[in-house]
Amino acid sequence: MDTETRDHLLTAVRRFVNERLRPAEAQVADADAVPQDIVDGMKDMGLFGLSVPEDYGGLGLSMEDEALVCMEIGRTSLAFRSVFGTNVGIGSQGLVMFGTPEQKAKYLPRIATGEITTSFALTEPEAGSDAGAVRTRAILQGDVYVLNGTKRYITNADIAHLFTVMARSAPHIEGAGGVSAFLVPSDLPGISIGRPERKMGQQGAHICDIVFDNVRVPVENRLGAENAGFKIAMQVLDRGRIHIAAVYTGTAARLIADSVAYAAERKQFGKPIGDFQLVQAMIADSKTEYLAARALVLETARLRDSGASVVMEAAASKYYASEMVGRVADRAVQIFGGAGYIADYGIERFYRDVRIARIYEGTSQIQQLIIARETMKGK
Ligand SMILES: Cc1cc2nc3c(=O)[nH]c(=O)nc-3n(C[C@H](O)[C@H](O)[C@H](O)COP(=O)(O)OP(=O)(O)OC[C@H]3O[C@@H](n4cnc5c(N)ncnc54)[C@H](O)[C@@H]3O)c2cc1C
Repeated sequence: MDTETRDHLLTAVRRFVNERLRPAEAQVADADAVPQDIVDGMKDMGLFGLSVPEDYGGLGLSMEDEALVCMEIGRTSLAFRSVFGTNVGIGSQGLVMFGTPEQKAKYLPRIATGEITTSFALTEPEAGSDAGAVRTRAILQGDVYVLNGTKRYITNADIAHLFTVMARSAPHIEGAGGVSAFLVPSDLPGISIGRPERKMGQQGAHICDIVFDNVRVPVENRLGAENAGFKIAMQVLDRGRIHIAAVYTGTAARLIADSVAYAAERKQFGKPIGDFQLVQAMIADSKTEYLAARALVLETARLRDSGASVVMEAAASKYYASEMVGRVADRAVQIFGGAGYIADYGIERFYRDVRIARIYEGTSQIQQLIIARETMKGK
């Protein structure tokens, strides 16, 4: 995408965020649902297809351009991003990177338009950070794999039409080596979806269990080679981490802007609280950390676009941006004082919403392990 078209897209997304999404933030949180007219607006803008190649009807953005769009989208309630985020990130990218031409032709055009929603199903009750320990089984019987097991906390499971499922195809191989990835339509017999979990934040975005009870998945739905599923999942997550880091960097920008506006308006001791240097120090710390995250995320995205391996840089981006936005949200509550604790001001909602950033798509501890491992390998 040339710079001019990219700038038009960013302007359009910013306008959509300001005019359609921000006014609906409280309503979405209260109703725990994103209104259909907003979802339709996202479809019209092509948001579901940001990362789907143009040949399959998407916008085919570079990682850098996707990161810039994510930074705009991050400036509003994070539940909005979840509506299309799985199609752009972890739900579609296994297919984009490892799908056969037939698999891509079958699903990608409808993923790009938002006609179908995708989910990425890796986590299980007993396999979280230790993702290679998945117990869901996929046993080959003739020309089908029979899936049995439970996936946990799967974003958009209740609305998804297609899951990328990691399941153990080689029960005799323990750990990551015995896992394959599958494209599983959600309407196959034997699939049931749990009730959405009640969560700390991001109301409007749902996570549920998926239970597989003798689900017969055709062999042609396997993604990549047999027993290569863990590597596929890790490559999808490497990319997803840049996406997530960009989104939460955008949220930090929003929180800083809100803090500055409040500090200019709220008066104590006869002056705006923004005149007090201890308040300025909080704004300065937040801004500095935001700028550092933005630079790291964009540099990592450009590096990935150049074809380089970014395992370490993607982990560092996700680690830093998600920890950073936690600190920025905490300072925003502090700058708002009592109002920061009151629901009507919306700041406490962001404080709760950003907490998950340090947990999903690899906890901060898992990112630290990756960064250290890669660094000690000489990277
Ligand atoms: C809102 C939400 C959305 C999600 N969406 C999805 C989704 O779409 N698809 C999906 O597959 N999963 C999803 N998840 C699951 C998420 O990715 C996991 O919760 C996460 O990976 C952590 O796993 P866990 O919850 O089992 O925690 P655990 O792995 O049990 O970790 C508990 C604690 O132990 C620490 N720990 C674990 N191992 C180590 C170690 N070796 N060294 C140091 N510390 C360690 C962790 O860092 C953490 O602090 C979602 C979760 C939530 C809450």
